[in-house]
Amino acid sequence: MNLDDIGEFGFIARIRKRAGSCADLVLGIGDDCAVSRLKPGELLLTSTDLLIEDVHFRRAWSDLKTLGRKSVSVNVSDVAAMGGRPFSLYLGLGIPAGWTLEELDAFADGVVEACAAYGAVLAGGDTCRSPGPLFISVTVEGRVPEGELVSRAGARPGDLLWVSGSLGDSALALRELLAGRRPDVQSAARHHDPCARVALGRALAAQGLATSMIDVSDGLLADLGHLLDSSAVGARVARAALPVSSFFRAALREDPSLMDLALSGGEDYELLFTSPPEQAAAVSALVANGVAVTQIGHILPQDDGLQLVDAQGNPCPLPRSGFDHFG
Ligand code: ADP
Ligand code: MG
Repeated sequence: MNLDDIGEFGFIARIRKRAGSCADLVLGIGDDCAVSRLKPGELLLTSTDLLIEDVHFRRAWSDLKTLGRKSVSVNVSDVAAMGGRPFSLYLGLGIPAGWTLEELDAFADGVVEACAAYGAVLAGGDTCRSPGPLFISVTVEGRVPEGELVSRAGARPGDLLWVSGSLGDSALALRELLAGRRPDVQSAARHHDPCARVALGRALAAQGLATSMIDVSDGLLADLGHLLDSSAVGARVARAALPVSSFFRAALREDPSLMDLALSGGEDYELLFTSPPEQAAAVSALVANGVAVTQIGHILPQDDGLQLVDAQGNPCPLPRSGFDHFG
């Protein structure tokens, strides 16, 4: 069956049936606005992301349910990076001709499944025809108790710099895909089905451990650069301290230059944050959903800039970093 057979409103009805409801969502899909209940003493977090076929994803590389999950996770990651918890998501779709209803249902199933996994609900969206590629626009609303909000601007010289999980896996998979090879299962999973670190972000915020935080979507060095700019500080990063997975380490043994992927590959969706040194024991004890944290450096005065050092403490050149759509 095709979208033309049921039309825009038939499709919205199918999404609505899947989306479910939750207590703080007073009105979800089906009216002019979604209506959410806000609690006193909480701040509203809102973020939006656009995913465009052949820019952010290729249809041939991932099944549509997984693409639906990823569309949610990359957005929720921004809420996690401020210490919040997501509650509502909005899905804008520009759908090219030729997409079957089965494909769209699979995509919607992935969206709804990921929303539920993060304790959130699909609360609305918009649906149009696209004359070109598939457009996916996801907006998330989250909440964070006032006083627990963690922004990019709060790092102070002397703070330790930490990152969650492992770096470079997603970029390693993308590199294989672009070369026409099949990435191994684990790095492919990191690329196609990333997991937003909500539990970790909440734990850091609730315990008051993080002075600043950002999620690593454009590459470690690029996102660290944003955090340093916002906080008006510099940093020293120990290259040898960067956490990489066992399969990334295996690939590194074959080709040591792959380390650049851990430094500047994108789409890790890990949390990069700073914390005062006296909190180091509390931070390193944090393991949320099996994701550990690793200290990778420390914060310096702004004039010291961003320094990358090797195991001997000697400066390493900074690789050209980060993805810029217009750069
Ligand atoms: P309006 O014309 O008032 O903007 P629409 O007809 O576009 O309303 O949408 C009707 C309802 O369906 C709204 O609640 C909207 O949020 C929801 N909706 C539309 N498209 C989607 C989608 N892709 N995913 C989730 N909800 C959607
Ligand atoms: Mg509309």
